[in-house]
Amino acid sequence: MLFTHDTEVNLSFLAALLDTAPGASESGDDELATPEQLAALITRARFTGRIDHDARELREVRGVRADVRAVWGHDENVVVAWVNDTLADARAVPRLVDHDEVGWHIHASSPDAPLAERMRVEAAMAFIDVIRAERLDRLRECEADDCVGVFVDLSKNGSKRFCSTRCGNRMAVRAYRARAGG
Ligand SMILES: [Zn+2]
Ligand SMILES: [Zn+2]
Repeated sequence: MLFTHDTEVNLSFLAALLDTAPGASESGDDELATPEQLAALITRARFTGRIDHDARELREVRGVRADVRAVWGHDENVVVAWVNDTLADARAVPRLVDHDEVGWHIHASSPDAPLAERMRVEAAMAFIDVIRAERLDRLRECEADDCVGVFVDLSKNGSKRFCSTRCGNRMAVRAYRARAGG
């Protein structure tokens, strides 16, 4: 295991959030365009605490998606600055909590803070672990030339290149055709 379990869960959630963007999603369209799509995403991620299910929350979570995408795969100094600003802006106070039989893990915002703020703070907390482990190189961008998706490479040897098997297969077919001469 590269990171603690809760950090790996958070990083995987962030990649899923970022991959709802147009050009990254399975449909190719924006898959975080409606409150229903947001509800499905946070249900899959088992988000607890305050959830408003309204247009404002959707807009704010889309803002988190854009903010995290802007630092994902970037240099250490960029990510460090974002982490520190994010935690300061949210006046984050880390504490150990246990709920829903998850086991002890860290929350740094209150359960009644807006969903987007909690997502942003969780992202910052997960990035802290990644930076301290000197593993920022594991937050990757998909190498498929027609995809803007991201992924977190949790494999032992760090050899993952694509955001999905969909992209991996498409690129393999393309490389095969190129070798076959058309
Ligand atoms: Zn929790
Ligand atoms: Zn991809």
